[in-house]
Amino acid sequence: MGEAPAFLVDELQDGPVNGYELKNGSCKTTTTIGDKTYVITGADDGTLSIEVQIFDRNLGEWVHPTVLGIKPMSCKGHSTVLLEDRILILKKGSKPNDQIWFLEVDTPYVRQQRKISGSEVVAWSKGVIGNAEKPVVISGPSGVGKGTLITMLMQEFPSMFGFSVSHTTRAPRNIEEDGVHYHFTEKSVMEKEIKNGKFLEFASVHGNLYGTSVEAVEMVADAGKRCILDIDVQGARSVRASSLEAIFIFICPPSMKELEKRLRDRGTEKEEQILKRLRNAEAEIEQGKSSQIFDFILYNDNLEECYEKLKKLLGLDSFITAPLKSAAPREINLPMDFSVSKTDDKIIINCISSGLEKESNNFRITLDISSLKGGAPGRTRGLELS
Ligand code: ADP
Ligand code: 5GP
Repeated sequence: MGEAPAFLVDELQDGPVNGYELKNGSCKTTTTIGDKTYVITGADDGTLSIEVQIFDRNLGEWVHPTVLGIKPMSCKGHSTVLLEDRILILKKGSKPNDQIWFLEVDTPYVRQQRKISGSEVVAWSKGVIGNAEKPVVISGPSGVGKGTLITMLMQEFPSMFGFSVSHTTRAPRNIEEDGVHYHFTEKSVMEKEIKNGKFLEFASVHGNLYGTSVEAVEMVADAGKRCILDIDVQGARSVRASSLEAIFIFICPPSMKELEKRLRDRGTEKEEQILKRLRNAEAEIEQGKSSQIFDFILYNDNLEECYEKLKKLLGLDSFITAPLKSAAPREINLPMDFSVSKTDDKIIINCISSGLEKESNNFRITLDISSLKGGAPGRTRGLELS
């Protein structure tokens, strides 16, 4: 059992908004929710991540939480604002796309992870201004033509779509490149990363482990593109249950005979793998058609016709090659010096300019948090600036 440090008891009146700089240049904030005080500490050299400790006021002891998600790097100080089930962290002196973070302490995702692990859990999620287009999840049995359709879409609309590069423990095929088609990895490494919350979803498919990392999806969204995921039905089910809002499309073969022909003609699998994939295909098709996971089912008989239907349901059928409006997320650029206050659904950031005529150059940013979406294990979107 540890003792409550002095700053928890005396020095810091923790309220809905706080920020507290220590003499050694590091920054510590405390936020109390119920009987727990979340102590968020960052060093000022920018080489270490911001750390979280929890002091349980009831038990009078420190709790060491499992911290999920990519941690923010520390900076020249930070302020925190309590928002019901998460803490908003505004970083000082960071790059514009790295200034808003959320520490989720009691969101549905955190509660679920706490139940699974049986221990205290918190999760980091980076905040993004505005919304990204819904990702597109494409599933279907091996050999049905998912990859072919996705390649066609990416070639026709290169600035609109980005592919979520999955991790897999299967061996690369001749033409496959690490980091492009898949991140090829070891089973033990992937299992460890799954435990650490790196994956949005994962599944054992045809005897190998496959998974979509949170980073794979977020990298595409951060580039202002719409993310396409090629994952199996189990993975689609997990994504459906996650905080990621997506469009789910299942691709069906015209017949099992044609599926077998396509798999054999592709020539990428040995006989044993072909038979395994065909056996699994029947169950996948059954689930794809009946499971309520999918918003649309497409039959890939004639390739061109199926592609036209895919474009139609993505709203691209009448798409003329006009310049695309950039969907790149907007950013805020906080100065080194600011103070924060909260009113209902708005965070008011009073920015103090470093110019000579200090006062007249001061400005105010209002952050609307009324339509927050997503969150751990991905980004938190829907923040609006005014
Ligand atoms: P998946 O990604 O679903 O495993 P692929 O895109 O690799 O499937 O397609 C499997 C094989 O079938 C490839 O050789 C591809 O060229 C071929 N193919 C895809 N769609 C069709 C189609 N509509 N008609 C005939 N062959 C097709
Ligand atoms: P392949 O070995 O042919 O590349 O892929 C086999 C199956 O794994 C396909 O059905 C494909 O959709 C699925 N798959 C690929 N990546 C992922 C992933 O990240 N997660 C899940 N659940 N399935 C994946």
